[in-house]
Amino acid sequence: MASGDSGELAMGGVALSEIAGAVGTPTYMYDARAIRGRHSALAAALRPVPHRILYAVKANANLAVLGLLARLGAGADIVSGGELLRALAAGFPAESIVFSGAGKTDEELTAAVAARIGCINAESVGELRRIALICELSGQDATVGIRVNPDVAAATHPYIATGKGGLKFGVPLAQFNDALRVIDASSRLRLGAVAMHIGSQILHTDPYVAGLRRLIDLIGEARGAGHVPDLIDVGGGLGIRYREERPLEPAEWIAPLCDTVRSSGCTLQIAFGRYLVGSAGILLARVIDTKCAEGRRIAVIDAGMNDLLRPALYQAWHAVVPVRPSPGEMGRWDVVGPVCETGDFIGFDREMPQLGPGDLVAILGAGAYGFAMSSNYNSRARAAEVMVDDGTWRVVRPRERLADLYRDEPADPFGHGSGAS
Ligand SMILES: *Cc1c(COP(=O)(O)O)cnc(C)c1O
Repeated sequence: MASGDSGELAMGGVALSEIAGAVGTPTYMYDARAIRGRHSALAAALRPVPHRILYAVKANANLAVLGLLARLGAGADIVSGGELLRALAAGFPAESIVFSGAGKTDEELTAAVAARIGCINAESVGELRRIALICELSGQDATVGIRVNPDVAAATHPYIATGKGGLKFGVPLAQFNDALRVIDASSRLRLGAVAMHIGSQILHTDPYVAGLRRLIDLIGEARGAGHVPDLIDVGGGLGIRYREERPLEPAEWIAPLCDTVRSSGCTLQIAFGRYLVGSAGILLARVIDTKCAEGRRIAVIDAGMNDLLRPALYQAWHAVVPVRPSPGEMGRWDVVGPVCETGDFIGFDREMPQLGPGDLVAILGAGAYGFAMSSNYNSRARAAEVMVDDGTWRVVRPRERLADLYRDEPADPFGHGSGAS
């Protein structure tokens, strides 16, 4: 994001007002150059160790974003059959795809085995048994990983901390040997990885160091039992700056892990979502109405919790900035959406110049878990998505059309006709 000569906000050389005029609002915008920059920063930091970079598709699954990362050589970390189809459609080679998730159905596992993806990270002993059965029935082999729950706490919002014992995620440490035995018992399965994913928006290295130590012990146990896993998958979670956070640089993040990874003889696999795309995206919105209520100034904008759920779900903080600088005096504003929920807010008490109907605002840091979490609540069409690259832009998903939202719903499914009571 930058201000142009006129002081007006622009992304990658494209004025935000141009997009609002051509595509309307609310619209998500992603800066391809920023995503490339994040990927190359990661690749540079990881150079000292053998590594593989995966992109966690769920953060932003738009095909243009996936295609960009696939062309950069990233693999894909997926969590559903839908993401498998998206990743393949975007051009990720099957062998670069890793399937994570606590509730993979037989149907999804069958599709993953048939597609010959790189690795299925199982999250329970039962899931491993189902994968073995699917492979035996279909006569196909599969490489599996064991995603353990390393029982480490990460200081982040409780809804996005996933590495603590007792949660739904991962194989409990005490069941690791049971998991190995299921793989032993099947001629179709090979153990390729030991994995963890401890949470999201993590700003410290300690939980990674603690988790990695546990993974190394497990690699040792697996080798002792005759397996030859070649990947240590530490998952994702590297935090970004939304407000005043001091996120780790990739080099700082990797530094305390390097020696351990090297001595393990394994390839380090990471699966970052937010870090790669979060800061590269904004949500462009327009003020619908303003009012004063008991001394508070309220701006109702045309992007709500159905477009950007993070404030309502996690009390997440996103910067809101006016697209055109206004000479008006500064004041404090509550920026809220139009959805009929008190939880439908973007930010409270924000220092901004005078706002009025028609003014454009940009909500920053919206590239990850933004559009991906959006919904049609209040029968609102989901936003358009635009990608900007080097001064040019393309619509990469058109705004949904309202009539499409109810296209497949019969108003009278039992044929009662008019007048029936
Ligand atoms: C969500 C997720 C990630 C990515 O998390 P970020 O915080 O976006 O980096 C990585 N691995 C798994 C298994 C996940 O579920």
